[in-house]
Amino acid sequence: MSNLILRNPATEDVIAELPHATVEEMDAAIAKAAAAGEAWRRVTPVDRTRLLRRFADTVGAHAEELAELETRNMGMPIGSARWCANAVADTLHYFAGAVEKHTGSTIPVAGGVDMTFHEPLGVVGLITPWNFPMLMASWKVGPALAAGNTAILKPAEITPLTSLRLGELALEAGIPEGVLQVVVGPGSSTGWRLVEHPLVRKVAFTGSTAVGKRLMQGCAEQIKRLTLELGGKSANIVFADADLDRAAAAAPGAVFDNSGQDCCSRSRVLVQRSVLDEFLEKFIAASAAWKVGDPMHPDTAMGPLVTANHLAAVRRYSDGLDTVFTGEAPSGPGYWHPIMIAVADDMEPAVCREEIFGPVAMVIPFDDEADAIRICNDSEYGLSGSVWTRDGSRALRVVRAMEAGTISVNSNSSVRYSTPFGGFKQSGLGREHSMHVLDHYTELKNVFIATE
Ligand code: NAP
Ligand code: MG
Repeated sequence: MSNLILRNPATEDVIAELPHATVEEMDAAIAKAAAAGEAWRRVTPVDRTRLLRRFADTVGAHAEELAELETRNMGMPIGSARWCANAVADTLHYFAGAVEKHTGSTIPVAGGVDMTFHEPLGVVGLITPWNFPMLMASWKVGPALAAGNTAILKPAEITPLTSLRLGELALEAGIPEGVLQVVVGPGSSTGWRLVEHPLVRKVAFTGSTAVGKRLMQGCAEQIKRLTLELGGKSANIVFADADLDRAAAAAPGAVFDNSGQDCCSRSRVLVQRSVLDEFLEKFIAASAAWKVGDPMHPDTAMGPLVTANHLAAVRRYSDGLDTVFTGEAPSGPGYWHPIMIAVADDMEPAVCREEIFGPVAMVIPFDDEADAIRICNDSEYGLSGSVWTRDGSRALRVVRAMEAGTISVNSNSSVRYSTPFGGFKQSGLGREHSMHVLDHYTELKNVFIATE
């Protein structure tokens, strides 16, 4: 196989060339991870906490380097990449602190004592996407290692550079050899080995729903543990009684952040019909103020798409779309796509149903609360969503009715390492973040001891 060639999506310059890891190399990594497991699970909890904290601090000390690497490899604006690098350190700190807090229980029973243990699974395979490479890696590496597993991280081949660097920084911080390995190879062969190999006890995946379905079928063979963070087509619901200035100011970030390459993107903007024109005017004004260009420039709000292939995929949705706003974007070199806003009368067009994963917002008007909930839930996805209203009772009614896992009110934010994150329906299986995720990286063991 020829080498993997990586290009800067903003310039198309070649930035790195590296070999594809083979299936045999993945097998060797799995064997090494299994061998390292025995010692890693015996590291005392306080020492595991110390090592993970040192890893977190080492990442923090290299945040600027990691941010620049991420921006050059995947094209996200440097401001976002800096936020991600610091969030990686914070996430590792959170899970360092969780080691001694993921406790079992004692249960009153007749004739003895009953207790539970959270046992590590063994080797876990972590498969990550290209849209937030180092951040997605930390969401999986943190809980996997904190729970006492050894891990193999398989990043998306087009954006492996920050993951490779995280692997080096882990070693530098004193995480023992074999506890965290990064293997860069094609998903369908090298990555798939994590599904097939009997020594890998769990796969944690973030990526497309199509690949997630394939992994679920593959994992069925061995009843392998599997968690999935998949796609979305989330709703940003704006009621007429909302603070329209705040809702409109936040709406561009909710859908155009990271050039729309965000599973949490609120790409369906549901607006109550009585304020449609007023909201659109404000939404368009806020979107027009977004600076699109060189992602290394600190004022840039949006960079390019990740690859020429992905640009072509987004254009299949946006070419010929009847927009109410189309922004400016450089013509090239680089994989540029302008910000677009279009209005749809109902949910029928594919652009309202399918995940575009680009900077395209579909505005869909609704009549009343019931109509908003109906349109929101008329989707096979259910990852995130927002509700903008000044009526507290309405906010509570609507969030309880929404079929989505990660919801915000009068805000478009989704992600905090201390709160559960994940999807309903075809957006996924299991949760990331918070203490809940540790249950997905451990087996619950029950022990009864007779005392009579
Ligand atoms: P993808 O094609 O599903 O790939 C994701 C990862 O899976 C990559 O590392 C890929 O490796 C690997 N992979 C592909 N086929 C595989 C197979 N048969 N066996 C094992 N691994 C395999 O998705 P993507 O194109 O990277 O990312 C875009 C999609 O991910 C979007 O649909 C988006 O919504 C979703 N996503 C969801 C979340 C979330 O949290 N819910 C977050 C981010 C992205 P290679 O690419 O190296 O071949
Ligand atoms: Mg892919």
